[in-house]
Amino acid sequence: MRMMTSTPSSKTCPCGSGKVYSECCELYHDGLQIPATAELLMRSRFTAYALRNADYLLLSWDESKRPDAINFSEETAEWQRLQIISSKKGSAKDSKGRVEFKAFYCQDGEDCFMHEISRFVKIGGHWRYLDGVIKAAGKVEGQRIPGKKFT
Ligand SMILES: [Zn+2]
Repeated sequence: MRMMTSTPSSKTCPCGSGKVYSECCELYHDGLQIPATAELLMRSRFTAYALRNADYLLLSWDESKRPDAINFSEETAEWQRLQIISSKKGSAKDSKGRVEFKAFYCQDGEDCFMHEISRFVKIGGHWRYLDGVIKAAGKVEGQRIPGKKFT
């Protein structure tokens, strides 16, 4: 039996890049590489949520908006999949960026999603998450889950 989260390095990265975690967001989480674009930072933050890496989330949060702490002890959402809808600016040449995405998660056995537009700023060569506006959130309706039985 394999553990779900104990050794994620060889598993496909939760951010949806198609690469394994050790060749993707783990490089950012371990500080071996710096995300060059706002979208890469966004992906690495999603993966940090999926793996409950509070340190990385705090580190990549702009100081002006950063919470004092992130407590995952009462967190019940299992973050499963990220869909990037669009990116505005946020390239290696920019200092500001915006990423629109949908993040899918499972909570209390229900498939849910959150549709957000996040803002990012680059400070001292490092992209940071500034804030976000949630456009929609809730349960994913049945048609997205083929084979699911409604009894
Ligand atoms: Zn990744």
